[in-house]
Amino acid sequence: MRIVVSGAAGFIGSHLCDRLLAEGHTVVGLDNFLTGSRGNLAHLAGHAGFRLLEQDIVQPFAIEGAVDGVVNLASPASPKDYLDYPIETLQVGSAGTGRMLELALEKGARFLLTSTSECYGDPLVHPQVESDWGNVNPVGPRSCYDESKRFAEAITMAYHRKHGVRTNIARIFNTYGPRMKLNDGRVVPAFLDQALRGEPLTVFGAGAQTRSFCYVRDLVDGLYRLMFSEERYPVNLGNPREMTILEFAAEIHRLTGARSAIVFRPLPEDDPKRRCPDIGKARALLGWEPRISLEEGLELTVEYFRGLHATV
Ligand code: UDP
Repeated sequence: MRIVVSGAAGFIGSHLCDRLLAEGHTVVGLDNFLTGSRGNLAHLAGHAGFRLLEQDIVQPFAIEGAVDGVVNLASPASPKDYLDYPIETLQVGSAGTGRMLELALEKGARFLLTSTSECYGDPLVHPQVESDWGNVNPVGPRSCYDESKRFAEAITMAYHRKHGVRTNIARIFNTYGPRMKLNDGRVVPAFLDQALRGEPLTVFGAGAQTRSFCYVRDLVDGLYRLMFSEERYPVNLGNPREMTILEFAAEIHRLTGARSAIVFRPLPEDDPKRRCPDIGKARALLGWEPRISLEEGLELTVEYFRGLHATV
C-alpha cells in the first residue's frame, strides 16, 4: 500500500512510519516541523520507500499518484506544546483534518484519525470507556486540544456517513518512548531528564492524579491493527496499568538509581484527576493489548535519553 502520514516527523508518527515501511508499504510523510523534528526520520534518509514533504496540512496541497491509506497524526500533542500553539492546534485538528479527509475521499483511500484520551476531559467515568461522552471544559486552557480532537472525530464520522470513507478513530492514551522531546513538558521526559541530571522531580499538585503509560511500540501495533479494521467508532489504545504521579516518580527513582528530591509545584488548571483506558474493545476487536512492561519500556527510554545527555 502507499500511505500518506501527516505528523510523520513527530514522536508517534516517526515510529508508525518505521512500522509501515517494515511491513513493506511505501510512505509519503508530511510535516511542518512545528513540534516534530527531522532528526526523528534521519535514519530513513535514502530509504527507497519513503518520501518526506515539508507541508502544513492546514494549507492546500496535492499528492500525486495513487494513495491507499491516509493517517492523520499531525498536531501539537503535549500540554506545553498546545498551550504554546493553541491556534495552530485548533486549525490542524479542524481544517487540517478536513484536508486529509478530502485526500482520502479523492483517492478512495482508507483513513485513520489519531485522537486522544483528552476527548474524555476530566473523566466522570472510570476507567474510560469509548461510550462515555466526556467531561470537557470548552473554554479552559486545554480546550484548544480537546475540542480540536473532538471536532476531528466529528468530521471523520461525517465523511464516513456522507461519503462512505472507510474511517477509523484511535483514542490514544499517554504514550512514551524514544524520540519524545526532552523538553516537551510531559511527565515521562520531564522526570527522566531531571533524574539523569540529578535535579529534583517536579510533581504537580500532590501527585495523587493518575495516569497509565503505554510504550510506543505497543501503541503503534494497535494503530496498525486498527487501520485495517472495519470499526468506525473510536477505539481506546493505551496501557491499563494505572498509577499515581507520585508512584511514577518513585518508579523513576528506582529505575535510574537517582536520589534526587521531589518538589511539589502547582497543579495546572483542568489537569485530569484520573486517567486509565478500558481496552476491552481493542482486545475484542483487534486482539490487541500492550506487551511491554513499564520497567522494560522505561529502560529503553532511559537508554535513549542517556544517549541524548551524552551529546549535549
Ligand atoms: N506532571 C507532573 N510533573 C511534570 C509534568 C507533568 O507532575 O513535570 C503531571 C501532570 O500534572 C499530569 C501528569 O503528570 O497530571 C501527566 O502529564 P503529561 O503532561 O505527561 O500529560 P497529560 O496526561 O496531562 O496530557
